[in-house]
Amino acid sequence: PRCRFLSDSVVHSTTMQPTLASRHVAVIGAGAGGLIAARELWREGHKVVVFEREDQVGGTWVYTPKVESDPIGIHPNRTTVHSSMYESLRTNLPREVMGFRDYPFVAREGDEERDPRRFPGHKEVLMYLKDFSREFGVAEMVRLETEVVVVDAAEGGRWKVKSRSKGGGGVEDEIYDAVVVCNGHFTEPRLPQFTGINTWKGKQFHSHNYRHPEPFRDQVVILIGSSASAVDISREIAGVAKEVHIASRSVADETLQKQPGYDNMWLHSMIENAHDDGSVVFKDGSVVLADTILHCTGYKYHFPFLETNGTVTVDDNRVGPLYKHVLPPASAPSLSFVGIPWKVVPFPLFEFQSKWIAGLLSNRIALPSKEEMMEDVKAFYSLLEASGTPKRYTHNLGGCQFEYDDWIAAQCGCPVSEEWRKQMYSEVSKNKCARPETYRDEWEDDHLVLQAYEDFKKYTL
Ligand code: FAD
Repeated sequence: PRCRFLSDSVVHSTTMQPTLASRHVAVIGAGAGGLIAARELWREGHKVVVFEREDQVGGTWVYTPKVESDPIGIHPNRTTVHSSMYESLRTNLPREVMGFRDYPFVAREGDEERDPRRFPGHKEVLMYLKDFSREFGVAEMVRLETEVVVVDAAEGGRWKVKSRSKGGGGVEDEIYDAVVVCNGHFTEPRLPQFTGINTWKGKQFHSHNYRHPEPFRDQVVILIGSSASAVDISREIAGVAKEVHIASRSVADETLQKQPGYDNMWLHSMIENAHDDGSVVFKDGSVVLADTILHCTGYKYHFPFLETNGTVTVDDNRVGPLYKHVLPPASAPSLSFVGIPWKVVPFPLFEFQSKWIAGLLSNRIALPSKEEMMEDVKAFYSLLEASGTPKRYTHNLGGCQFEYDDWIAAQCGCPVSEEWRKQMYSEVSKNKCARPETYRDEWEDDHLVLQAYEDFKKYTL
């Protein structure tokens, strides 16, 4: 039901050649999304400033051993850290699939700093993003250590951007024709609610503040969640902890299974309640006396700087209304978002979204009317509702991400996703299920790797 992206009933095509406009655009964030947005905007002829509050580009791929002062991430005045990377993290997508289309993420042989593996560690991804930023001149558009604190509507459909720079530069107010929001959505922890959790006496962490397993040595740990990080982290912790009990919302209530290959790890259904004596009761009826609960329960979309008078809101992790997950109809295309969808291959999807935004801002690509966009959003929400999909899954494009990418490609008049990329994504997903422990080092899709590298010759020779 989420795959409505091929319906182009409301998209106008124009036969008249429009006059191309060059806009002054503020991009918020210099992670993968902001970097590719800046490049595409610049290529389209726009003037771009990228605001980045950290001291380097790369966003979530800038690993730091630092954690926040509140390990669960709810205290409003806590010291904050942007990245959720843990020390041992290797990508869960192969590098061929992950990279931008015309800047393939290929191994750089002969450089000892680099990690040539097909599923490399986080540092290699950061190096790739930094190479990209340098090679396309994006680095020169970035104002580091400059945080956007307010984005507010200004006269004539423009935007006031208030920023604060760390280096003593103070606060600056500027007017831009357009703002592209690329601030990431893996920083603000989401926590589950169950009876007793707020008064439970044990230690609690959110995976945002997980770096390595040492704090869990010899402990009885309950880990909530079943995402990619939850899977990695539970296995890593099992190597040092006394017991690991995984609570998952996606298994039947009676589930209680010892995990194959481990004598100290169990899979349970979700938690029913927690008690002051440290005990935690699962829906399967089992009771565990635990030292620590580790919440691998995901993140919230969060735009603390955005003042849109209700034009864009976040409701149960639905950012809306957004036409095709990118544009609030009331202020399209001058306000846009890159990187909202999840369960996707992020970098190429960001690239398609960025091309679309850049072309819309120059008038090269046409948009439907505000009313038509709003109708499209409403129809999409109705379909989600009819299929019983919770609001918080609005931006989950799992299963139809490539249709979405291809729909945007059609709007832009650029080539759709490569066939090998689609097939490789599907092969890797199957391999992950078949070999959850070893899929990063054992695979059977070498024929697709060869096709990918053949394709890359267009860009790397
Ligand atoms: P981010 O990388 O988070 O960048 C946002 C940037 O905005 C940051 O630099 C931040 O400092 C800046 N910012 C925020 N607010 C402001 C402000 N007010 N003013 C100025 N700057 C601001 N993807 C993959 O392709 N493969 C993987 O294997 C993979 N593994 C992952 C593992 C983990 C643990 C996580 C958390 C994510 C993983 N991802 C993976 C997804 C990853 O998030 C995306 O690949 C991508 O890096 C997201 O880029 P982004 O630009 O949207 O956000």
